[in-house]
Parts: sequence; C-alpha cells; structure tokens
Amino acid sequence: MIPFLDLKKINKQYRKELIDACREVIDSGWFVLGKHVSKFEKDFAEYCGVNNCIGVANGYDALSLTLRAWKHLGKLKEGDEVIVQANTYIASILAITENNLVPVLVEPDTDTFNLTTKNILASLTSKTKVILPVHLYGQISPMIEIKNIAESNDLLILEDCAQSHGSQIQSKKCGAWGDAAAFSFYPGKNLGALGDGGAVTTNDLELATVIRAMGNYGSEKKYENTYRGVNSRLDEIQAAMLSVKLKYLDQELFKRRDIASKYLSEIKNSLIQLPFSENEHSHVWHLFVIRIENRELFIEHFKKSKIGLLIHYPIPPHLQLAYLNFFSQELPITESIHNSVISLPISPVMTDREIKKVISACNSFKG
Ligand SMILES: *Cc1c(COP(=O)(O)O)cnc(C)c1O
Repeated sequence: MIPFLDLKKINKQYRKELIDACREVIDSGWFVLGKHVSKFEKDFAEYCGVNNCIGVANGYDALSLTLRAWKHLGKLKEGDEVIVQANTYIASILAITENNLVPVLVEPDTDTFNLTTKNILASLTSKTKVILPVHLYGQISPMIEIKNIAESNDLLILEDCAQSHGSQIQSKKCGAWGDAAAFSFYPGKNLGALGDGGAVTTNDLELATVIRAMGNYGSEKKYENTYRGVNSRLDEIQAAMLSVKLKYLDQELFKRRDIASKYLSEIKNSLIQLPFSENEHSHVWHLFVIRIENRELFIEHFKKSKIGLLIHYPIPPHLQLAYLNFFSQELPITESIHNSVISLPISPVMTDREIKKVISACNSFKG
C-alpha cells in the first residue's frame, strides 16, 4: 500500500533531533511562551523575509486574530466585506464570519485554483475592505496584481499561507506580500508540528503587538488586560519541534518539486488534467491536484492498485450545512472543481518505486 501521507516516516527522519528538543523543553520546566517560541518566531520571520512573527495555537486562529486585531485598530468594522476564493478550505471563511465580517466568494482560476484579478475587480463594492488570497494547494496567488488592486482601492491583504510555506514570486516569499499572513503548522502541512500550531507574519509592528496580546488574554503585561483577548498560544514543545523541522523545509520542498516534475512529465493520459504552475518557485506542492471527469472510476482503479488518494475538498464551503441559506451566489466553476479534483500522494519521503507506481497507475487508467 502506498499511503497518501506517511507522517510517521516523515518525522522519523528527524527522530533523534525531535526527541532531544522535546527533552530539553521537559527538563526546562517552562512550557508556555518561553525561549523556544521566541526562537522559532525569529527564525520563521527570517525564513519568510518579514519583521514580525507571532506564534498562535493554529492556522485558524492566525486568520481570525488578525481580522480581530484590525477591528480593534479601527481598520475594519462589522459588515465589511472580505474577498476570498470560493473553493478554499472552510477555515478561511469561518475566520471571516466569526468576526461578523462578510465573505464575498469569488470563483477561482480553473488552472491555478487561485484568485484572479478579473474576478476580484468584478466583486469590489464600497464595503470591500480586505482581500484574502488563499495560496491553495501550495501555489502562491498573483500577488503583484493583487497588491496593485489593494493599493488603488485602499484594501488590506491577508494571505492564507496554510498550504504554501516557502512559495515565492521573484524571490519574495508568501507571508511577506500582504499586510499580514496566516500560517498553519497542522501535522500534515508542509511545515508540520507534532500537534496543532500556527503563526501570523507581518511587517506592521503595531498589528503584531495587538495580535500578540489578543492571543494571550489581551495582556501585554502579566495580570493586566488591555483587550478582551482569547487564549491562542504556540506551545514551547511545538515551537521546539518546528525549529527542528524548519531547518529541513527547503530540502523537503525540493523533494516535493522533484516528484511534481516527474508527475508532470511522465503522466500521459488524456482523461487526466494535470495541475499548472507558473514556475518552479511559485509552487511548493502541498498537494498535487489533478482533475478528472469520471472521478469514481479513478478512485476504484487506485484502490485496486493499492495507492492512497484524497479529495481536497469534496464539498465547497457554500454548500456545507454550516452555511445553509447563507450564500446566495451561483458558483458553477467552484462546484465543478469540487466534483472533479483528486489529490495524488506527493510526500517528501516517497521512494522512486512508489513514484513510478503512481505514474503507471495514472497512465493505465482507461476510464
Ligand atoms: C489547514 C488550513 C487552515 C487552518 O489551519 P489549522 O491549523 O488546521 O487551523 C486554514 N486555511 C487553509 C487553506 C488550510 O489548508
């Protein structure tokens, strides 16, 4: 069996270092907001090329706390509109509605699955205040164009980088393009902790200061509460795990790109639509997503070949029960994407033999 994602094998590569780092935290007796979180924040800010990184409990909180902080700073108010692509993971949209802001769902580009300037421009209203580009499946959104739109319309940009750690345009990484960016370190993400974790990156020191306090009960000084905050902190143990794994992130991205380029050049089947990437640096291949009309038959075929597959995602957010009677837009492109996508295994620990097996299973699919 080729698993879709073998987290055991991924973390086993760094087993000794992870255990040593874990032991250090245990022996220190200090588990929340200490030197491991500070070190990881500094290293990850440097990796992304930004001035500030704030560790939080998960990727969702990174999105939600940023919007909350902007409300606190008077940059947003309830009812303001946030432009986001309709085919994202539901977390991006839940973070908007939790803050009583209005998600304006936009159809994505059918090749990149990301926002397009044309569709953003068509969705602008006098209430639009934020563009929330999700660098879906690991591919960075067209940030130069999005920045231009934001500048000429006085909008904020919040990047959702949960799937795209390290992707870049002209050597500027995701997380450094927007006014702020949200990262997830959920175990299965390209930079994964051994539990939940997340971070906000930003060059805005004022925003960083508010988010840091917001995630620590609104406290800047122990037992003094400036804001009505929440508890959303990155654990010392998870920060220590992430510092180990950050050292190997680029190496793992290299491996993912190598597998993607093999899939792109060796999968030859007219029934399969392969993914598109602008260039080598723009995509970090968190997921390798193909499109196929007769998805059920393909899933059967892969089951027989003993290869794991997943669908990201089977139901779009606007059709989830959670948002029953909430959205009224027609989103045919998004719905057709959700009905035809399949994610092939693409993990940095796959062997050449496994990669070849996936390719030949794709090529032998007859529909
Ligand atoms: C994983 C993910 C999130 C949420 O991250 P968590 O750490 O699971 O809270 C948000 N947006 C996208 C696009 C994601 O893939």
